[in-house]
Amino acid sequence: MGENMYFCENCHLPTERERCPHCKRKNLRPIAPQDMCELTECPQQWYELEKHRFQALSIPVVTLPVGSGVNSMFALPLENYRLYVPWERFDDAVEVLEQIQRERLERLRSAYLPEDTARLTVPEKIAKRARRKLKMGKDSDVAAYCRQVVSSAQDIFTGADLPSGHKTVCFSADGVYVWLDASTLEVLSVSVP
Ligand SMILES: [Zn+2]
Repeated sequence: MGENMYFCENCHLPTERERCPHCKRKNLRPIAPQDMCELTECPQQWYELEKHRFQALSIPVVTLPVGSGVNSMFALPLENYRLYVPWERFDDAVEVLEQIQRERLERLRSAYLPEDTARLTVPEKIAKRARRKLKMGKDSDVAAYCRQVVSSAQDIFTGADLPSGHKTVCFSADGVYVWLDASTLEVLSVSVP
């Protein structure tokens, strides 16, 4: 935990500078152990599933429902929670989030990471587009590139099922996203930010 941290009361943000990087407010005061800092925003459902991990470490979490105005107008349940924790437990709470993320990735890895990425194929139309986006030569091996992204993925997530009923899964590494048909290992798209 850094020394000389400051706190923006507008944004509930701990910061190393006396000026808030978010709202630009100046002359922030030094942070105090009890200051409630925004940890993350997450779906309510997710928080209900995971809150026991914070409780187990006695990290006091305050939740604030956030959502669209439409939802509040019709008094429907708001979709997201914004989570706040006191500064003195902020690092512990970040560690909990990181642990959850590691476990999630491990689950997805074992469920979706193909044992044999050699099966992965890229339709020519998609390969052409990918070469253009990635500024690769016209004979470069897009399939090899995609295999590399898949095996070194830093994040994995699933998408909507295809009309065929096959699952779709996305592997991302260094800002490149490769979407696959999880059954056939056909590449559905390659996107670069
Ligand atoms: Zn601020």
